Amino acid sequence: MLPLSGVYEPFVWFLGESGLAGSTSNNSRILKKFSLSGPGCGILRPLKTVYFDYNATTPLDPAVREAMLPFLDAIWGNPSSVHHVGREARARLDDFRDRTATVLKCKPSEVIFTSGGTESNNLAIFGVARMLKAKGRHIISSAVEHHAVLHCLDYLAKKEGFEVTLLPVNGEGRVAIAHLEKAIRPDTVLVSIMAANNEIGTIQPVAELGAVCRSRGVLFHTDAAQWFGKELFTGVSQFNADLVSVCAHKFHGPKGVGALYIKSPLHPDSILFGGGHENERRAGTENLPAIAGFAKALELFVPTPVFERAQLLPLTRRLEGFIEKLPGVALVSSKEGRLNNTIAFVVGGADSITLLAGLDIEGICASSGSACSAGSLEPSHVISALGVEAQFTNSLVRFSLGRDSSLEEVLFVENVLPEILRRAQLTDKY
Ligand code: PLP
Repeated sequence: MLPLSGVYEPFVWFLGESGLAGSTSNNSRILKKFSLSGPGCGILRPLKTVYFDYNATTPLDPAVREAMLPFLDAIWGNPSSVHHVGREARARLDDFRDRTATVLKCKPSEVIFTSGGTESNNLAIFGVARMLKAKGRHIISSAVEHHAVLHCLDYLAKKEGFEVTLLPVNGEGRVAIAHLEKAIRPDTVLVSIMAANNEIGTIQPVAELGAVCRSRGVLFHTDAAQWFGKELFTGVSQFNADLVSVCAHKFHGPKGVGALYIKSPLHPDSILFGGGHENERRAGTENLPAIAGFAKALELFVPTPVFERAQLLPLTRRLEGFIEKLPGVALVSSKEGRLNNTIAFVVGGADSITLLAGLDIEGICASSGSACSAGSLEPSHVISALGVEAQFTNSLVRFSLGRDSSLEEVLFVENVLPEILRRAQLTDKY
């Protein structure tokens, strides 16, 4: 057996269990495509990488990194300290908040810096639910939200007596305005619908949904983590939302930082307790280097989206045209009304983990919507919500392209994909 155990479980699983690539000579052939060099803690790296996983994260932009460096070095004070070292940090923090507000087109006091999309969603949902629990305990969301929304709702339902209505979606993953109108009740306190879906890229009619909420006096939150940097952004008012989640690492900013826009004078309950930071709305010393990077990335990559439609649409159109002709494959991302960079498909007779391992062996980074740990797989809740047959929900593959994606990469994927699918489909029979 090759010395791979513990290095990359799905890789070993693919090689070892398939019975197809299991011979030593086959494995040696495949291993020639890899090197063990680089700072990767012993991770096998392919000699060529095609990164088609930009919805998971994006590389830090050099200009963003540059903007962060002073705050890892010369400007290290605590913005809450009263002395001049702290005041310097405070002045910079205020400046980043002003600049963030300028891009978001809101008041600086409406920007809360957080540790990213997950925390922004948690703050919006728990914060509003607990603030308004005396008024009502009904929340509406959709079946295709990110787990950073759905798991908050689960918790509120199980532990805090809330009732949650998850709106169904159509075959393209879109919520219907009429369903929202019907679902709102006198005790509804919050509606949370994402702007764009991370797994299949579907864009929701957020402005219309927000308008319905406003007319019915219900607060509206949108998780826009996948929107910023990808779609046209003219200001938070375009969403008709009271709360908007933003996440820096989806548009070449640093990980672990984001923001929640909270329309004034809303003051959701805190979910972190400690100091009076962020105007008593989020305790914890501000992460100034990350916030510096966030503000810079927002300025550079959001007003003119870094995911350029003119570059990406021809690539994704071409690739999806190729994919839909492959045997046993069905696209689940819609052709219209979705993020220009995202293609998602399911593969009959295969599962995501085998498919992703097969792609990875060729150096292609893709993703499935499923949580994967120790070789086991949860079916994608998004695919289930589309009404895709249960036998396919474990076989989602998502390609999400980005700034550095090229026709050459698309051609490479087209070249190797049929064989990867064929092997994965055979593997699943054993
Ligand atoms: N919401 C959506 C739609 C996302 O795609 C993600 C990240 O994948 C998140 C929330 C979570 O963001 P973060 O990774 O910053 O916690």
